[in-house]
Amino acid sequence: MAEVFGLHTFVDLLHFFPFRYVDKTQWVTIAQLQPHLAEIQIKGTLVHLEEVPQKRGARLVGHFSDETGSMELVWFKGTKWLRQNLKIGQQYSVFGKVQRFGSTYSMPHPDMEVYPAEKTQFTPSIRPIYPSSERLQNAQITQKIMGNWVMELLMQYGKHLEETLPSSLLERHGLIGLPQALFHIHFPKNLPLLAQAQKRLKFEELFFIQMQLLRNKAIRRSKVKGYPFNEVGRYFNEFYQNHLPFELTHAQKRVVKEIRSDLGSNAQMNRLLQGDVGSGKTMVAVLCFLMAVDNGFQSCLVAPTEILAQQHYKGVSELLSPLGLRVGLLTGSVKNKERTSLLTALKEGEIHVLVGTHALLEDPVVFHHLGLAVVDEQHRFGVAQRAKLWHKNEIPPHVLVMTATPIPRTLAMSLYGDLDISVIDELPPGRQEIKTVWRTDAHRLKVFGFIKQQIALGRQVYVVYPLINESQAMDYKDLMDGYDSITREFPMPDYQVSIVHGQMKSEDKAIEMDRFVRGISQIMVATTVIEVGVNVPNASVMVIESAERFGLSQLHQLRGRVGRGADQSYCILMSADQVGEDAKLRLHTMTQTNDGFALSEVDLKLRGPGDLMGTQQSGALQLKIADLTKDQELLSLARGEAIKILQADPALSQTEHVLLKKAFTSILQHKNIWNYIS
Ligand code: ADP
Ligand code: MG
Repeated sequence: MAEVFGLHTFVDLLHFFPFRYVDKTQWVTIAQLQPHLAEIQIKGTLVHLEEVPQKRGARLVGHFSDETGSMELVWFKGTKWLRQNLKIGQQYSVFGKVQRFGSTYSMPHPDMEVYPAEKTQFTPSIRPIYPSSERLQNAQITQKIMGNWVMELLMQYGKHLEETLPSSLLERHGLIGLPQALFHIHFPKNLPLLAQAQKRLKFEELFFIQMQLLRNKAIRRSKVKGYPFNEVGRYFNEFYQNHLPFELTHAQKRVVKEIRSDLGSNAQMNRLLQGDVGSGKTMVAVLCFLMAVDNGFQSCLVAPTEILAQQHYKGVSELLSPLGLRVGLLTGSVKNKERTSLLTALKEGEIHVLVGTHALLEDPVVFHHLGLAVVDEQHRFGVAQRAKLWHKNEIPPHVLVMTATPIPRTLAMSLYGDLDISVIDELPPGRQEIKTVWRTDAHRLKVFGFIKQQIALGRQVYVVYPLINESQAMDYKDLMDGYDSITREFPMPDYQVSIVHGQMKSEDKAIEMDRFVRGISQIMVATTVIEVGVNVPNASVMVIESAERFGLSQLHQLRGRVGRGADQSYCILMSADQVGEDAKLRLHTMTQTNDGFALSEVDLKLRGPGDLMGTQQSGALQLKIADLTKDQELLSLARGEAIKILQADPALSQTEHVLLKKAFTSILQHKNIWNYIS
């Protein structure tokens, strides 16, 4: 047993990959030195050593020269040992970072070796550099020690390492074997071999993630029964023929078909619906509610904010009440008597669709027969919250997760590889591109002038302030100052200005929101609480203050609040005169494209995948070696192979898959990272 345990930690150590390499085949001469060089390697002669007293102790300075010039080597620690062991007149190779003081270069604490190296010593030409943690440092585990351990392990156990991938697969994609890859990831003989090792190990990592996702999906399909919605009946047809306020786009039609075929099967639906802001996801949800009603089931629609829940409630009620269907609204602010009677009606099955915030996930909320749950704007929802939905009925309801955060394909594949994905990739007709410009404070008067023109045309305007932290006094000050200056610039009675922020009572928020929705106020000053879903087609200008403080996906979400009607709409990004490089790229990108998917690719590169998804999901993305921003092609390959293998041999029982099965089983035993519902 101990041996098995030991082997596991060995394997772990072998999978502790260097995060960087130093090429020790490259030499630099002293004349070639420049400030800001990365670590470099120089060969030369130690000419002289002297101790220079300083405040505490002394530093040791070595004068080092080659045929092109001379420099200094400096030590602050361990000087006694060095004085005893370094030889004047000896040739050394030194390795490290140089700094320039005046006209002299110096290298603090260089890595030094006698040159040429003694034959007995193992000196890899490309050195691995391991991630070093404080704990490792405290334990005095240096890069050299790490390297020696790994080398020792590879020498002793390398031969016994088992391949994990089928040989035919390796051949197909020109991948090297596992033992070889592990050797070269730690001690590459040359850079091409390092690249091959990386490719092989990245592929393996991505491949096994895909295997897990696909396996979960298969299990869900076969084991988790869903309610079959066989009927497309009275309500759906009646609505479709007589009450549909517009012709569906092709993309909407296609998605509705995809969902219908899921709902009609015996399996539980778990589908992610992606569609850019304004692509008309709500209507798809409404059609799904009708399918549920036709089959005798209730539905719920979960929204991330109270404002959005109220708006959905209003919209869905307007669409469904002509059919005699009852829609309920449940949020944190529905209290007492109203709440009690709502819950009773829900339990009795009198309410067909319940719209609400996560308040409707709470235990006292009991449905008569919940068959479908639609979750809007999924990225604000935790997996745990969604899991609660599963316990609202004896068989889990079908789940449709709608998101307007366009998730890049690669990320969708790795995060949601076990979900089915539908995409609305088309906007309703007649929409115009939103013109986006980037302005600084110097242009403020012009911007106000433009707003006045738009209002004179009968349009409405949003002015949004960043509120990164709800409790941050600074942010509120910005918001309130902004509100003051807007009300000064746009005084009553000619203008009406609404304000909405997170610290207001929800009744007050609703009143202000309503004033804007009904066109009584022309300007809405708000924090990002209006980011999600709010729909006022007459609004044509979105001014985003301190836009440099927002991430790309948030900027795009905010911009999506305008351009919902037929009028030309505008997004004005206001920033300080000076902004950082990343912010510059974000703001510039916004002015260049309206395409949410293109933006999300840039976002992924700028922020990394963990950040993009919020902290909830980032745990699922802690990859050891693959990088989702760079290894998209490899990910597609890995997914393709995983699909092929599982299709041909679902139980992995073919002889060719013996080793694969062994590896996969061990992975499944060691971590259970994926949740069915994610
Ligand atoms: P989102 O996908 O961002 O949730 P919504 O569902 O709020 O988008 O729809 C945005 C606007 O587009 C709404 O005013 C909606 O009524 C309208 N809409 C949706 N589908 C169509 C369509 N096929 N034709 C015309 N307008 C549509
Ligand atoms: Mg929406």
